[in-house]
Amino acid sequence: MQETGKMYWEHPYLKELDSQVIDIKQHDKQLAVIVDNTIFYPEGGGQPGDRGWIGPYRITDTQYGPEGSILHILEEGQIPAIGAAYRMKIDWDHRYDFMQQHTAQHLISGIMYSQEAIGTLSVHFGNDEFTIEIDTDEIVDRTLYAIEDTVNHIIRTNIPVTSETRSLEEAGSMGLRREIKVDNAVRLIRIGSHDLIACGGIHVASTGELFHVMCIGTEKIRGHVRTQWLAGSRCVSVFRQNHSIIKQLCAAFSAPSRHLVGCATSLQTQLSDIQYTLRNCQTACATMILEHQITRAEYVDQTPIVVLDISDRDPDFMKRLAEAANSIDSIALSVLQHRDDGKLAWMIIIKGAISDRFDFTLLKNELLPSISAKGGGRPPMWQGVGTAHISNEAFFRKFIELLKNQRNISG
Ligand SMILES: [Zn+2]
Repeated sequence: MQETGKMYWEHPYLKELDSQVIDIKQHDKQLAVIVDNTIFYPEGGGQPGDRGWIGPYRITDTQYGPEGSILHILEEGQIPAIGAAYRMKIDWDHRYDFMQQHTAQHLISGIMYSQEAIGTLSVHFGNDEFTIEIDTDEIVDRTLYAIEDTVNHIIRTNIPVTSETRSLEEAGSMGLRREIKVDNAVRLIRIGSHDLIACGGIHVASTGELFHVMCIGTEKIRGHVRTQWLAGSRCVSVFRQNHSIIKQLCAAFSAPSRHLVGCATSLQTQLSDIQYTLRNCQTACATMILEHQITRAEYVDQTPIVVLDISDRDPDFMKRLAEAANSIDSIALSVLQHRDDGKLAWMIIIKGAISDRFDFTLLKNELLPSISAKGGGRPPMWQGVGTAHISNEAFFRKFIELLKNQRNISG
């Protein structure tokens, strides 16, 4: 197989190139074009593969292929002709965005190392942000701001980002920030006196093109800190997006931005106070409902039998009824609730004289299969969800019958 001519290292700013198709290969479930020369960068070193077009055909990704070839993955259903020449065009916004993120990562890792003696363990370039996992379990904001300030100063002084090729031996004696992973000639990327590293990626030509970097967060991972970053045009788009959110919040709270945290905190406090009051009201309401039902209830073994359909209440009302029943000495309660998700919630509480002779196995075998009930519990409460195969009335009737029959069997 003919090796693809790789022009992306020498000409990282070339956006278009006339190339000839020399083969079409199957790559996973898609087809891939191999051309004589390419400016498309194949995925590697954390940088994604290029996207773009070959003539009218869309290229969705670029990957290394066998024997030095480069695979340009085609959009489904599109096949250029072998032997034909086409103009290849890179999706430049996508490529340049990752050139900025990738070069910024070199500089940030370099400054972390030289200024704070922090090493880089791994990096990841995502569509929203890039991350640098560092060899420390903690980093304070002051240190991150100091790194950010130094990097942004170097960006403003617009230092060239250059590449040079050295033998493995030469490179080994040059004090590189990271161990060399290749075993032949080494391509080194230098950012003035600030960073020197072996890398096969694509970089911007000078630090001024990075525009700005911002650390937007940190998280703990595998006992280390992972720092999250934005560089280049992403800083502007995220700043605009966040500013728009702040403006909307200021309008919603009728408050300046410096008061927003106070407004949100006070709203949270009010909400939890209201939730607490609402819960007490609901428990009081549940108690009143049970007491009212008891006054008109049928009794078995001096125990009032109460059946309730609470489908018109919110799901938490079941818990409030359980709390209310807790303060009643004697009750045989059956509750059903048809929920918005189509499930039928059920609860049975048996307390008082009847409970001495109550056998839940009987209900389990005779009553609960009628609603395919799942769940369980222990005295005095059982609950779960099921499916409404029979009407609530039929279910309650069966519940009352079983309690009466149980008395007859026991008696
Ligand atoms: Zn690089």
